[in-house]
Amino acid sequence: MDQELCRPDDSIRPRALDDFIGQDDLRANLRVFVAAARERGQAMDHTLLYGSPGLGKTTLAQIIASELGVNLVSTSGPVLERSGDLAAILTNLGRYDILFIDEIHRMPPTVEEILYPAMEDFKLDLVIGQGPGARTVKIDLEPFTLVGATTRIGLLTSPLRDRFGVINRLEYYSPEELARIVTRAARILDVAITEEGALIIGRRSRGTPRIANRLLRRVRDFAMVGGEGVVTVELAEKALARMDVDEQGLDYMDRKILSTIINHYGGGPVGVKPLAVACSEEVRTIEDIYEPYLIQCGFLKRTPRGRVASAKAYAHMKLFER
Ligand code: ADP
Repeated sequence: MDQELCRPDDSIRPRALDDFIGQDDLRANLRVFVAAARERGQAMDHTLLYGSPGLGKTTLAQIIASELGVNLVSTSGPVLERSGDLAAILTNLGRYDILFIDEIHRMPPTVEEILYPAMEDFKLDLVIGQGPGARTVKIDLEPFTLVGATTRIGLLTSPLRDRFGVINRLEYYSPEELARIVTRAARILDVAITEEGALIIGRRSRGTPRIANRLLRRVRDFAMVGGEGVVTVELAEKALARMDVDEQGLDYMDRKILSTIINHYGGGPVGVKPLAVACSEEVRTIEDIYEPYLIQCGFLKRTPRGRVASAKAYAHMKLFER
């Protein structure tokens, strides 16, 4: 998760389904699942949320817990190193609580295995001792709901994926939805912003609320220092240009990826590893953060032989050569 935004973002994180903007189908479904679980007096079905970073997976997990009126316990795949780490969390869960596991695809296999009976029967199989004397003890758990989040559903094992009753994909947001998110955040942060100013930020946020909120904070700085205190179209455009965000919402690294493919690899195809080395970036960052948006916008194509820059990418990068 974006370190810079972990804490400051908390005040603008929506707390209820009504405050959560966009993802209309998913929101409508969740409303039904939450209401049904409450009415039956049971734990909600285990839910998997997948999609690019910053689209609202953590926020939704928190909202589900608050709409259900239960506690949320948060952890993440890479933090759960040993099965005992997860066992300790599971045995401490209260009735119907939500266990949120971020980056669930990065859980070690030994940890994942103890999750299966926990998800299926609310039981924990603990192995005590080692060698011939080892024995298994079954521990009853309180009924709980696992909300898993992942940026890479393809990396989930099928036994784990199959144990989720609900699997939902979060889509990129439209510029108009992002403008609404920006307007809401501006209200909470006490920033004056025009409708058109919010739309400029919405258009350049790579379809991602976390980026929209980050750009709003930076644009606010420009509005306060040397501006009139109001985020207008002119001010938003000037500030975004200063932050190196172009009119398609691409930032320095997006353009570096495209220019590397075009100028160093004749437009591709090129594998993600050499591309990452040439851009001095990590493979995972390119795959999780940059590539999905570039593909979604039609700048990049993923082929069996590697990444290829599209005609749209050539046209866009030409603009920057002038
Ligand atoms: P993820 O877990 O998918 O990486 P988060 O849930 O942490 O993303 O969302 C990042 C930030 O974006 C949140 O702090 C929240 O303020 C904002 N956000 C995400 N989705 C929405 C939304 N639909 N409406 C308003 N704000 C949102």
